Amino acid sequence: MGKPASGGTSDYEGKRDFSRTPEPRGGKSGGARPIFVIQEHAASSHHFDFRLEVDDTLKSWAVPKGPSTDPRVKRLAVPTEDHPLDYADFEGAIPDGQYGAGEVLLWDRGPYDNVTSKDGKAMSIAEALDHGFAEIVLHGQKLSGGYRLQRMGGAGEDWLLIKSDDDAADARRNPVSTEPESVKTGRSIGEIGEREDG
Ligand code: MN
Repeated sequence: MGKPASGGTSDYEGKRDFSRTPEPRGGKSGGARPIFVIQEHAASSHHFDFRLEVDDTLKSWAVPKGPSTDPRVKRLAVPTEDHPLDYADFEGAIPDGQYGAGEVLLWDRGPYDNVTSKDGKAMSIAEALDHGFAEIVLHGQKLSGGYRLQRMGGAGEDWLLIKSDDDAADARRNPVSTEPESVKTGRSIGEIGEREDG
């Protein structure tokens, strides 16, 4: 405590009481290929947390309406604090009174490829995000193909999450409502909220 954090998750740790919440304290569980994860979060304001493994952390955005598979739809993505890599496996109920209280459902996950380039030159994902534009290819169970993350101009720090117009684009799909189950346990968000200790 009191020392500058070397990692990116001191905000995450500062907001949580790990004697109360079942969320992970943090640690490294990254593999060779970076992963993305989308967690539905039934907090006071319902949203989907979109997270990308970048170096040793999960860069995170809260997407109120969740991701779309329609390339014409731009979804607001509000940056939130970096999360530890092992959060990518978390599903459960954050107790009342704790930060982010409510159920968390592991809605989609898988590897991703960073395909961002500028003037024909490949950019690292960290560099791309610093510049406010990243193009990635998701290999999830529900979402696949290209997505763009784009920081909006102006005073705010908000971003947009937009499906690229590729073979995986499908304006008729709406997986946020038609495929609500957890990719980890098959549970619904209501089932996660049921008390396990009866
Ligand atoms: Mn959240």
